[in-house]
Amino acid sequence: MKKRKISTRSVERLSIYRRALLHSRHEFGPSVYSHQLAQACQLTAAQVRRDLMAIGYSGNPNSGYDVKRLLSSLATFLDSQDGRKVAIVGMGYLGRAIAAFLTNRSHKIQLMAAFDVDLDKIGMTFSEVHCYSVRQMQEVLEGNGIDIGIITVPAEQAQHAAEQLVAAGVTGILNFAPMVLRLHERIYVENIDMTVALEKVAFFARRNQRPKRK
Ligand code: NAD
Repeated sequence: MKKRKISTRSVERLSIYRRALLHSRHEFGPSVYSHQLAQACQLTAAQVRRDLMAIGYSGNPNSGYDVKRLLSSLATFLDSQDGRKVAIVGMGYLGRAIAAFLTNRSHKIQLMAAFDVDLDKIGMTFSEVHCYSVRQMQEVLEGNGIDIGIITVPAEQAQHAAEQLVAAGVTGILNFAPMVLRLHERIYVENIDMTVALEKVAFFARRNQRPKRK
């Protein structure tokens, strides 16, 4: 089957539409207009229509989109039928918090294993997830069909952890370490950096501050 070309931003927005549809189901009723969905997601109606058309879904201008059908189209496009299996590398503060968040959250994205180098953590279970030694990565990832890795190791260890994940068959990485990963372009990497986001908020908060009265 030919893969449809779609930008990373569009995929992100489709996921946001699904969340808005699920959260505001009662508000929308059985159908939703593009301008309602746009308002809920702080986007334009034209953008919503373009994104949904890109996945082959078009609404009726008189009655809007059928919410149930739209959710099902989004699921067909965004989710893989057998779900995706994920592992975390680095079970420190952040790794453990992510494990607690992901465990039993969704059958589409299942957290299957964790890895660390710290002997105090290896062999332990965190939020129902077993922590293995990084030496067992290949065997555990291949054995469980895990192809997504989450990196929560110190920055200086991130490249090494990423290469280990890729060598064990991972094709998508969510990287929380403040380090630019250099990997083959077929590996999809998404970086999350709270410091950068917070600095952005601080910058705009300062700019939007009302002048103090003298
Ligand atoms: P932490 O020190 O508590 O945990 C790091 C863990 O990684 C430890 O358990 C350590 O044993 C393990 N580790 C070290 N080298 C490893 C390797 N090569 N392979 C496997 N495991 C290894 O640190 P933390 O506070 O949990 O932060 C983890 C990372 O996340 C850091 O890079 C930090 O800068 C980053 N961070 C990012 C965000 C964000 O918003 N993106 C927020 C907080 C922290």
